[in-house]
Parts: sequence; structure tokens; C-alpha cells
Amino acid sequence: MSAADDLRRAQAFNAALVRYIHALIETTKRLGAPDAPTLIFACETMLKLSAEAAAAVPETRTRYECPRCGAVSYNPRDAAERYCVRCHEFAEP
Ligand SMILES: [Zn+2]
Repeated sequence: MSAADDLRRAQAFNAALVRYIHALIETTKRLGAPDAPTLIFACETMLKLSAEAAAAVPETRTRYECPRCGAVSYNPRDAAERYCVRCHEFAEP
């Protein structure tokens, strides 16, 4: 398993957790348990931590900036071939 696979699994887990927590908050509000405020506060803390974790993930997309005109492409093939979509030219290696 590559680091990219690990990252995808962590992001998928985080997204599923966020959906679960939102559902838990809705259910808790609807049922109105006596300890609902405590549970909702705990849920909101987890959502905050989850958002912070998601924001801490570095940019992993491939990025290629043309040395001639500065155009940026996120197409991995453009980066591999050093091809600029604006200049329609391959950069010198
Ligand atoms: Zn260019």
C-alpha cells in the first residue's frame, strides 16, 4: 500500500465519521435525552478535530508550472511530459 492509498483511506474514514457524527447529533436532538447537551458538545468537538485533521493534509496533487509563461496544470501527464497547455509546447528538460 502506498502513502497515497493510506491517505485516501484516512480521508474516506474521516468523511464517513463526519456523516455519522451529524446523524448522531440529529438523532440526539430528536430524542431529547437528558444528557443530550453533553453528547452534542462531544460530537461538535469531534467535528472540529476532524476538520483540523483534514485541513492539515498537505496538497498532494501533481502540479506543473510552465517555466516560459507560468501557466499551472494539475494534469499529471503534463507534469511528466513538461507540456504547457497554454504554449502548446514541451519545455526543455
Ligand atoms: Zn507556457
